[in-house]
Amino acid sequence: MQQATGWAGSRRLLRILRDIMKGGGTPQQRLDRIVQLIAQDMVAEVCSVYVMRAGEVLELFATKGLKPDAVHHTRLRVGEGLVGHVALNARAVRLSDAQSHRAFAYRPETGEEIYQSFMGVPVLRDGRVLGVLVVQNVTRRHYTEEELEALETVAMVLAELVSGGEILTDEETRHADTTALLPVRLSAIVLNEGLGMGRVVLHHRGIVIRQTVAEDPDSEVERLRRAVAEMHASLDDLFQASRLAEDDGEHREVLATYRMFAEDRGWLNRIAETVRSGLTAEAAVQKVQNDTRARMAQAKDPYLRERLSDLEDLANRLLQHLMGFGGSAGAEALPEDIVLLARTLGPAELLDYDSSKLRAVVLEEGSPTAHVAIVARALDIPVLGRCRGALLEARGGDDALVDGDTGQLLLRPGEGVRESFAESMEAHARRSADCAASIGQPPITRDGTRISLCINAGLQVDMPHLERSGADGVGLYRTEVPFMVRKEFPDVATQTRLYGNILDQAQGRPVVFRTLDVGGDKALPYWREAEDENPAMGWRAVRIGLDRPAVLRQQLRALIRAASGRELRVMFPMVSEVAEVDAARDLLDMELERERRRGCKLPQSLALGVMLEVPALLWQLSALLPRIDFLAVGSNDLFQFLFASDRGNPRLARRYDTLSPAALGVITGLCERARAAGVSLSVCGEMAGHPLEAMALIGCGVRTLSMTPRSVPAVRTMVRSVDLDTLEPFVQGLVDEPAHTLRHRLRGYALDHGVAI
Ligand code: PEP
Ligand code: MG
Repeated sequence: MQQATGWAGSRRLLRILRDIMKGGGTPQQRLDRIVQLIAQDMVAEVCSVYVMRAGEVLELFATKGLKPDAVHHTRLRVGEGLVGHVALNARAVRLSDAQSHRAFAYRPETGEEIYQSFMGVPVLRDGRVLGVLVVQNVTRRHYTEEELEALETVAMVLAELVSGGEILTDEETRHADTTALLPVRLSAIVLNEGLGMGRVVLHHRGIVIRQTVAEDPDSEVERLRRAVAEMHASLDDLFQASRLAEDDGEHREVLATYRMFAEDRGWLNRIAETVRSGLTAEAAVQKVQNDTRARMAQAKDPYLRERLSDLEDLANRLLQHLMGFGGSAGAEALPEDIVLLARTLGPAELLDYDSSKLRAVVLEEGSPTAHVAIVARALDIPVLGRCRGALLEARGGDDALVDGDTGQLLLRPGEGVRESFAESMEAHARRSADCAASIGQPPITRDGTRISLCINAGLQVDMPHLERSGADGVGLYRTEVPFMVRKEFPDVATQTRLYGNILDQAQGRPVVFRTLDVGGDKALPYWREAEDENPAMGWRAVRIGLDRPAVLRQQLRALIRAASGRELRVMFPMVSEVAEVDAARDLLDMELERERRRGCKLPQSLALGVMLEVPALLWQLSALLPRIDFLAVGSNDLFQFLFASDRGNPRLARRYDTLSPAALGVITGLCERARAAGVSLSVCGEMAGHPLEAMALIGCGVRTLSMTPRSVPAVRTMVRSVDLDTLEPFVQGLVDEPAHTLRHRLRGYALDHGVAI
């Protein structure tokens, strides 16, 4: 079999392809020649090219082997048949028995029923599927890895031809959306809070590779080497110049890891190998990038996805250096108020933009521990993630409103919406200014009750907010977050340093450390277990800690050491029964004893708490309360289990209200029981950070609220405007009402009584 094995074969094939591309004739004639060539070279009876038309339709554009009449007649929807399957998933398919594949669909006009084997690869450009290239054989054939590589390389070259506008005009390929200029509202998850307003800049849409086949592969290798060296130097400059360089926090680790990835031998070698096979350096980077994207689409593991997204960032950066405009996104003429849209964004890519102009970032992918989110938190830029369809809907220069409180992106909003958004931004800014000015004013109700307001934190970058917001302490420190952004399990010494830093930064204010709440969807990359069918109710949090006591003991040891001579507050998450509290307490006692025997200085005091997230605990309060010092209501989990309503499911987001009689009834009852037992109670779920909800909680009897730092000022202002003498009887009188929600009643109360919600 004569096929493209090794560089020599590949280079020869690419040379012929280049000659075809440069040669005369119409684009159709060139396509026809290419399919002939590939069929011959790969010893396939069929080679066909399908090109994507507007409306997600794949049209057979050229074929060697199928019936000629089918050309320009056979059309498949994305997802239809094997060809549509390749396009839908943007992934190659190799099958020796194609007809038994579930996606197989046979088109009589092509005469393809006689072909047993099928290999199809997507024709990709800049993450978009432009078409599908296919070879087929009559007999059962196992296409090798090398053959797949060769076909993918040819697809790179084809992408150049297809995207050049000669085969189909822009109009013919554009998505047929007549609504393109209408306002659009898209939902997303909030990766960093805040409001932003500006004009859309589409990240890296502009890279167009003009040449895919190298004239002289050896000098391409040299070009690549130079560009890599340039990229390394410019990354060092970038990190040095960014104002983050001196600050402490996880973002430094993130940037250091990223820098290390830029040296990744495997990645650089893969690109170099691809150049040696005959592609230009740019095309080689893009080909490796296509592979990375395909892996990213499959990867469920958040850590792996994050690594792959760093590689995507690096590939874009390397492309820029190769094309001679390396380094900075600031070089282009960009608006003064940028709302940056990207599929994914690496931490360094974010730093390429002038942070004083960045109003918000919106990603089609991304997770709360995405590296870009961590760096954005340090820069205080709102970020939305998993905003599906953002890139499809948005055009560069569109007006965009980013609501990083509710997780919404609004494109091309109407004048009225823009105005009211601008007003709420101003109100936010005014409120923050007022609140900043009122930081010294304690959160005391009008009738003199002190409410304790604390922040929820998870990274070192969150800690400066403690001082800035004037909060009383950290009501919930989620220890799993620093575990999730690391690449390996932090040992006791590392954890001790980490918790010690947090306590140092708290400067004597209380910090409640919640032990690891991992498992389920909060997976640690370096610690894999079988996937749970129902992660929220799966093997997570204290359940893992008790089944793997070494992990919990190490964490408790680190906490005891970090708090040496200071106060230590520890809390266990997802407790379902009192026996678990006893078992966890035993581990804590063992660790205290161990440290005592070693002659180490112990914490000055110890407070033990439990998160109330599982409803079963509500019926064990008599046994539970005497065993603990404090109870923290995790309303996010408690109410999802109380209402059997997934907290992450947008369809259920408004189905049940946290301001319902059931929810407030539970909180009221809890407050009474905790007060009677002398156990302090706090609420640290999301609801504590919304002024109206916080008012209701105070009305139920809650005196400690812990929330995202941004919410503290508004909640403080609310507290200072409320009168418990009237609020408490009002709220507690509502809990037996048969209403779906008490929201309107509570809002009415606030308006009538001048409560600042
Ligand atoms: C909660 O469940 O309300 C809570 C604060 O915990 P997390 O959101 O981290 O699950
Ligand atoms: Mg929880």
